[in-house]
Amino acid sequence: MKDGCAAGASEGTDDMTERETEPLTEKIYQRQPYQKEWKSEILRTEGNSVVLRSTIFAPEAGGQPSDRGMLGGYEVRHVREENGIIYHELADSEKTGQVQISLAAGQTVEMKIDWERRFDHMQNHLGEHILSGLFKSEYDADNKGFHMGEDIATFDIDRKEITAQMLRNIEHKANRAVYDAIPVEVSFVESAEDARRYPLRKPLSVDEDILIVTVKGVDCVACCCPHPSDTSQIGIIKLLRTEKYKGMTRIYFKCGMRALLDYEQKHEVVTALGEKYSADEFSLLKKESIAEAKREEMRRELNRLKDRLAEIRASELLSGAETCVTGEMEEEGTDDLKRIAKKVTAKTDLPVILASVKDRCVFLTHSGKSALRCGALVKEFAPGSGGRGGGSDTQAQVVFRDEEAMRNFVQIAVSSVSRIPETKMQKSEGPAKQEGADDGRRKERK
Ligand SMILES: [Zn+2]
Repeated sequence: MKDGCAAGASEGTDDMTERETEPLTEKIYQRQPYQKEWKSEILRTEGNSVVLRSTIFAPEAGGQPSDRGMLGGYEVRHVREENGIIYHELADSEKTGQVQISLAAGQTVEMKIDWERRFDHMQNHLGEHILSGLFKSEYDADNKGFHMGEDIATFDIDRKEITAQMLRNIEHKANRAVYDAIPVEVSFVESAEDARRYPLRKPLSVDEDILIVTVKGVDCVACCCPHPSDTSQIGIIKLLRTEKYKGMTRIYFKCGMRALLDYEQKHEVVTALGEKYSADEFSLLKKESIAEAKREEMRRELNRLKDRLAEIRASELLSGAETCVTGEMEEEGTDDLKRIAKKVTAKTDLPVILASVKDRCVFLTHSGKSALRCGALVKEFAPGSGGRGGGSDTQAQVVFRDEEAMRNFVQIAVSSVSRIPETKMQKSEGPAKQEGADDGRRKERK
């Protein structure tokens, strides 16, 4: 979306329909942006939409969502403008979508806008004017797009690089403009010719019925949205972050109550962290880096101890192993099994089959000098025991729903390994793989 919007212009069509004679909706919100309630005549209804003679509901425009509120007892869900006619889309109170409305042309209806939502839009919208005007005057940079979400707003500046220093400069100047309570002047001019005497920030996109919004010394642009009466109404302008966007820089910002709520939430986080680290907010980062260094030291120490424990476990498992090295661990998880298995395979070429009760997992591996094909064994026998897993010839892992299924699989795997003839031989004769030792069983598994 382009920033700002077509300034209240009508675009005629060649199609001679009845609608062409329909008067354009009078936009009360442009001249009286603080009008919260209003009465107007219904000109016509169309499905669940209503067209009025005049309205205080601002339609969706220029990247800004529409007003919401109540109209003739119905909820106004969305407001759109087409060729100068404003359509109020109504919903029932349960927001179930389409609604049969019992309003008719000629009837006068009362309307009330959701003022909190409108004022939030006005604050953030005028904030965008100020920020855009400052980017233009300070850095000759243009705002190429604006979007206002429910929680955060963005605009796109046509610069690849926006430094932190630039952002701070803009933010400080923008907030000074707020403190100065500069009046927002809205001028209605009839033609593009008349608009020439204004120092417009960007070219006009319409050539008649133009609204020009001026914040003296800061910004001047054609715009059709409702604005606060002076800049002090914005309260706070806070730039939050930037990101690269189509060769430009997208800037996220919040104004007014949004900015205050943002500050409140962040203050809560910082206060909680301060209590945790017994530090004020300015020494938090230092405290955190000290804590991180301690955690790193503990990680290294834990790793060293786990390694030592794995050595001991490996030695225990190796003593008395005949055809394979196997064991069941209570507290060790899958990563621990792998660590222990690595210690074992460094000392023997026997296959290793380890089970973790904690993770209900079995890990199979060998040094690469056993004829056992770990992945194939898992593929053949694990599904029968309700296990899920897989792997390569030299290592595989499988997870089970319960311990019994896990133990059942271990038994099958161990007995299967013991039937591989070269396994024993390799233990006594060394690492050379006996290609001719394939038995029928291995061939079956292929
Ligand atoms: Zn505006």
